[in-house]
Amino acid sequence: VKNDINSRVEILAVGSELLSPNFQDTNSLHLTARLNELGYSVRFKTVVGDELADLSYRLKQACRQSALVLVIGGLGPTTDDITREAVAAVLKKRLVFQPDLLERIEQRFRRRNMPMPESNRKQAFLVDGAAALPNRNGTASGQWISFGKKNIVLLPGPPHELKTMFEECVRPRLERRRPGYLARRVLKTVGLTESQVETLISDLYPKTGNPAVTVLASPGQIEIHLTAFSRRSSALAVRRLRGLEEKLARRLRAHLFSVAGETLEEVVGQLLKKKKRSLAVAESCSGGLLGHRLTNVPGSSDYFLAGVVAYSNAAKAAFLGIPPSVIERHGAVSSVVARRMAQGIRKRARGDFGLSITGIAGPTGATPRKPVGLVYISLAWAGGAEVQRNLFLGNRDMVKLQSTQKALDMIRRRLLLKSAGGKAIPG
Ligand code: AMP
Ligand code: MG
Repeated sequence: VKNDINSRVEILAVGSELLSPNFQDTNSLHLTARLNELGYSVRFKTVVGDELADLSYRLKQACRQSALVLVIGGLGPTTDDITREAVAAVLKKRLVFQPDLLERIEQRFRRRNMPMPESNRKQAFLVDGAAALPNRNGTASGQWISFGKKNIVLLPGPPHELKTMFEECVRPRLERRRPGYLARRVLKTVGLTESQVETLISDLYPKTGNPAVTVLASPGQIEIHLTAFSRRSSALAVRRLRGLEEKLARRLRAHLFSVAGETLEEVVGQLLKKKKRSLAVAESCSGGLLGHRLTNVPGSSDYFLAGVVAYSNAAKAAFLGIPPSVIERHGAVSSVVARRMAQGIRKRARGDFGLSITGIAGPTGATPRKPVGLVYISLAWAGGAEVQRNLFLGNRDMVKLQSTQKALDMIRRRLLLKSAGGKAIPG
């Protein structure tokens, strides 16, 4: 994947608005996806404001280090659009007036019964020697500039203009010189920290960097992203990926829950469906997030029966049948109450499984013996119940998210047991 001259691709997104908190450079994500399909990997991307000096500086670097530079934006008619000028200056080329481009622009205005503003004239200039890339949806012509083995491609900023121009003018040219084929795979794990994952698998990372491995952490979930490259075919890239994937899977064992993009709630849903088991949930500090995640999955009515958000002690008594004396003795955030919640909802919903969450999401509500992030999670089935005590770090949102992640993982692991009937396992 590394250092193949043809795959030395970089993207420069131009526009001061992209450096403000209000706009995102979405075009480069779109371009990256298309480039990957064509076997190119992106090595760098930069956002540059509408400053001639800044853009020239980054362009010079880009031309030195990359074989293909895609420049997005700054091709408009206004004074802040300076991409043409910057590229011409860096390459020491003139900007050449193109009568046919001007004619096209004037035509667009005529069709709308408007005179062409003088400022649009600058869009009729090409860097000397560039090929014009027609713009079906706007007045900004794209440009393809080749010199030696290097290529600079100028593309318009408005996303629909860029997408169409890429498909019609850029893709065919890149296809002809494609460096090879990329294949990607995402392995998702739960129940391990980032460094535990690293320790478990890092000796399997290929020294060649092909496949390339990156480990990404998010709350309650560590993802391992694999990218393989083959010069010859996509089948070979996929095969390369498979070999590594199998080795990783043997190491990660039951911590690995997804290899094809599925979410944890989808995996739990598939297992419940396959085993013909039903689930009901009782939530306190997660406030319905567990039920929300489970019901985000299409077809969840096949196995999801009910969810109760029993926030107050009175609600835990009324909806789950937990005697107030039990809550008083142990506290609402306790192993005993978590278990009673899971058993209570299981019984009332007549389900195979009951799953419950009770804890302190913070930032308030902590006591010396019960810190923020203390969460009890319980799973109940016909023959018994288990409870886990957790200490989650992070803010309120993170505690809620990690609680649901852990709850989903508890039922997933039980469903993976051979005898995981929810009925068959004796307490
Ligand atoms: P420009 O070609 O610089 O005149 O850009 C025109 C418009 O396209 C801008 O006002 C943005 O709304 C949009 N745009 C420019 N660059 C990007 C980008 N990298 N990602 C998403 N939108 C963009
Ligand atoms: Mg702009």
